[in-house]
Parts: sequence; structure tokens; C-alpha cells
Amino acid sequence: MKLLVATRNPGKLREFARLLGGLPCQLLDLREAGVILEVEETGRSFEENARLKAQEYASASGLLTLADDSGLEVDALGGEPGVMSARYGGPGLSDEQRVQFLLEGMKAVPGHRRQARFRAAIALAGPGVPGGVIVTEGAVEGAIAHGPIGRNGFGYDPVFWLKERAKTMAELTDEQKDAVSHRGQAARNITEPLRSVLAG
Ligand code: IMP
Repeated sequence: MKLLVATRNPGKLREFARLLGGLPCQLLDLREAGVILEVEETGRSFEENARLKAQEYASASGLLTLADDSGLEVDALGGEPGVMSARYGGPGLSDEQRVQFLLEGMKAVPGHRRQARFRAAIALAGPGVPGGVIVTEGAVEGAIAHGPIGRNGFGYDPVFWLKERAKTMAELTDEQKDAVSHRGQAARNITEPLRSVLAG
């Protein structure tokens, strides 16, 4: 059985292949499935965006479809950047520039007020999904470091400080990150529903 992963990013497809390893399905991305539709992330929550994308891409392709949305919430910024995480500070910025923009905005925020979390939602839609769509979520608590540390991961990983590990997310290996991350948790939560849809 085919499972469409609603992304054009080969890195994300590989990440899902790792997170969902062992399931009896063939993963393909939007390009491989020949889907030209572009669904806008117009929702006000990660859950709403994941649901919207899974449903729209499932009806465009006729395939069982998995979509995700994720981002960073910083308490001292009233929950920003939230669903704007990928575009925070402007659309043309690199990951490093976006991190600098975040650090600049938090220059005056002391250590004990720098709490933040990564959140992820994953939605499954398409043929055989009970109720048409299933959504799972995951979150990981941390704090925004005063400067970037570590070279792994992407996005805000170098400034996301994990207290229990005394490391940033960018200092973890892929496997260590999967074990604690928001997306890892959301993916583990969708595994059983997905397995039962695949079993028919
Ligand atoms: P999307 O889920 O592909 O829309 O991406 C959301 C944005 O949130 C990314 O571009 C990153 O800026 C940020 N983000 C989401 N998950 C992570 C993560 O695991 N590490 C670092 N940044 C993340």
C-alpha cells in the first residue's frame, strides 16, 4: 500500500521513513505522487494545518496521506513564532538568520523566563481512515539558549536547550532527537492507527 507524505522536502520524507520504520507501506512524497496542488497553511494551530493538508492532499491524490505541521512556542513572546515558525522574521531568511532574529527579540529576557516548547501535529487522512481523519500531537519542553550550540538538526535546534540533557537539540544525534522530539512523539502516536488502517 502507498502512503503519501505531504511534503516536497526529501529530508522530511527520510525522517518519516525513519520514524515509521517497519510499517508495511511504500512512502512517497508529493512530487513522486505527481500532485501539483499547493495547500496553504492557513490554520491557526498546528493541528488545524496538519488536518487541512492531509485532507486536501488525500482528496487530490486518492491516496492514504500523512501531513504534519510543527513549530516553536516561546512563552516570553506570547507563544510566538508558533504557526509562523518557518517564516518568522521574514520569508527570505536562512535558518541561522531566523535564529539570530529570535535571539535579538529575547535579548532582555533572563534565563528563568526563557521557557519554550516545540509542538508537532500529524494527521492521517484518505481511504479507510475512520471518521476521515486522525490527528496526533507531540510536544517537548525546553528553553531558548543565549546563543547557538551544536551542528545537528535544523531550524531552531541550536538554541533549543533541553534541561534534562544539558544539551541543545542540535547536539543530539538523529536517533536521540527522535526519542525526545515533538515529531517523534506525534509519529509514535500515529503508528498504531496507521497500522490498523493498513491492515484494513
Ligand atoms: P513545518 O512543520 O515544515 O511547517 O516547519 C515549521 C518550522 O518550525 C520549521 O521551519 C522550523 O523553523 C521550526 N521547527 C519545527 N520543528 C523543528 C525542529 O525539530 N527543530 C527546529 N526547528 C523546528
